[in-house]
Amino acid sequence: MTHPNLIIMNLLSFLVSLFSKPDSKPDQAPLQQQQNVPDDKPMELKQKFVKVGSSDEGKERYGEIKDQKWVNEGAWMTVYVVPIDIAPKWINTATGKGTGKIYVNKDMKTALDQALCSLRASGLLSELKTFDGCFCVRDVRGVPGKTSWHSYGLAIDVNAAENALGKDPKLSTGFVKCFTDAGFTWGGTFSRKDGMHFQFAE
Ligand SMILES: [Zn+2]
Repeated sequence: MTHPNLIIMNLLSFLVSLFSKPDSKPDQAPLQQQQNVPDDKPMELKQKFVKVGSSDEGKERYGEIKDQKWVNEGAWMTVYVVPIDIAPKWINTATGKGTGKIYVNKDMKTALDQALCSLRASGLLSELKTFDGCFCVRDVRGVPGKTSWHSYGLAIDVNAAENALGKDPKLSTGFVKCFTDAGFTWGGTFSRKDGMHFQFAE
């Protein structure tokens, strides 16, 4: 027969387990989380970002993509809410409506906010016309086997109609600078120009 004290001890440890928090932090939490930066932090107070330099670094930080699925998507992706003065006029080409929310990698969220706020501060918001995609697990167009940064939610396409792949980009220098100052690499500098494309990786 079980000793009554043992039953009480088991009951106590069960109760303790109910109230103790599991450690849900991923092994490689984004810098924002590690430093507990709230999402609505003003741009001048934002922390220096983490930006990967190569596809190998990307794979190491964000994990493998297998059978067109990114295994760690759930740990890294989040929703960026576009500022309310920007959203209605920034047309999502997929829906024909304004762009209220964008599903992005946590690492890119702050940089994207900074880029948009810089466009506003520079009076260049009218140049931001369309949102043409962010997260999409796929290879670089025309380069089978080379993972696109879109696969990790680390790239965003804008104004695609006027800045098509392989064509001379139409974005102004000031517009591009708002993104590159925020940490993005612009596809307009690639040997095969991709003017619509900004990626949060080298
Ligand atoms: Zn792109």
